[in-house]
Amino acid sequence: MKDTLDQHRVAAEPWYKPQGDEVALFTAAWTARMPVMLKGPTGCGKTRFVEHMAWALGRPLVTIACNEDMTASDLVGRFLLDAEGTRWQDGPLTFAARHGAICYLDEVVEARQDTTVAIHPLTDDRRALPLEKKGELLRAHADFLLVISYNPGYQSLMKDLKQSTKQRFGALDFTWPEPGIEAEIVAHESGVEAGTAGRLVEIGTRARNLKGHGLDEGLSTRMLIHAGRLIAGGVAPRAACSMALVRPITDDPDMRDALDAAVATWF
Ligand code: ADP
Repeated sequence: MKDTLDQHRVAAEPWYKPQGDEVALFTAAWTARMPVMLKGPTGCGKTRFVEHMAWALGRPLVTIACNEDMTASDLVGRFLLDAEGTRWQDGPLTFAARHGAICYLDEVVEARQDTTVAIHPLTDDRRALPLEKKGELLRAHADFLLVISYNPGYQSLMKDLKQSTKQRFGALDFTWPEPGIEAEIVAHESGVEAGTAGRLVEIGTRARNLKGHGLDEGLSTRMLIHAGRLIAGGVAPRAACSMALVRPITDDPDMRDALDAAVATWF
């Protein structure tokens, strides 16, 4: 299927509740064409933020979920064989650079380092991408912007971004929104009323305190929204929380009991 720019336009405004001055800072980075790194745990609003900013800036958005099997060719492009012979197919990164889209590399740490290095020439003053197989040096469109997401909690010696990669980006920290804002997000996205959203956020806040004490990751805003949607759909709150909050996050029976008990104090 042929990739067209229109497929990547963000047609309707993605609802986004700011946590601080991230909208102004991202806009400034965009104006300076400074690549941006969004740092923070999974499910805290990074993707929604980029979608909102692409809409606000009127730019198409090309999103790439990174994984360890991804090669530089998957990003940059390759020659394909078809009835007429061989033809070059831009990869998503090349497509975005050529047409002036915002390119969002989600969870870039998952990609192999040689793949990550492929983005380097686009992030310095050259703003160019060598398409070696094709023998083309692509100059990025004036409106092209590279955005990556990065979860510092997952970092290990084997999986971390190289300093030489990190230092090419301006970074914005994302954390869990403060409770009042998070409750508004949960209510808006799931359809539960404010009181229920507030109780879900209380449970989330308690569970996040267990990070490092038996839980590897805190409960994300995404999980609280899942619980809210079940409740809004008629599921009893304790069952909804068990399914959407407790079961996914731990296999340890004692931790499950502790979290179920916490849920029972709120619902
Ligand atoms: P991430 O990219 O950080 O993993 P997402 O952006 O996918 O997380 O966030 C998960 C969900 O949480 C979103 O689909 C959205 O419903 C909600 N969400 C989180 N933060 C916000 C926010 N600040 N404004 C609006 N929705 C949000």
